[in-house]
Amino acid sequence: MVTRRAECSCGQLSATCSGEPIRISVCHCLACKRRSGSAFSFNARFADGDVAIEGRAAEFTRIGDEGGRVIYSFCPDCGTTVHYRIDTDPGLIAIPVGAFADLSFPPPAFSVYHESRRYKWVEIRTEPLKTFG
Ligand SMILES: [Zn+2]
Ligand SMILES: [Zn+2]
Repeated sequence: MVTRRAECSCGQLSATCSGEPIRISVCHCLACKRRSGSAFSFNARFADGDVAIEGRAAEFTRIGDEGGRVIYSFCPDCGTTVHYRIDTDPGLIAIPVGAFADLSFPPPAFSVYHESRRYKWVEIRTEPLKTFG
């Protein structure tokens, strides 16, 4: 079984993930731009039991557009978000794919806030791709 390790910029906080993710998506919402500092976020969700977290984390809770809570866990030393949970997706843990620093990571199948919040110069060229919003 494939094992992939995500970690923060300083390496203190890590998430080791077994098996393939359940869902891989990009999100163009404004909150994701702020969190990532980038044009969109790239995220993979795994079953809770397939992820082993090591290291210290601080938490930040954001209320999502649909009223659900998103709880981000980030390294208190370097600030990188290494995992987060969404209230409306119990049993799953989301990992920002950039934290794997792995070019062989599979591409996203979903693009969220695709029409309403995407920078017009961003093109997601992967198939199949389901777009929302
Ligand atoms: Zn760190
Ligand atoms: Zn988003």
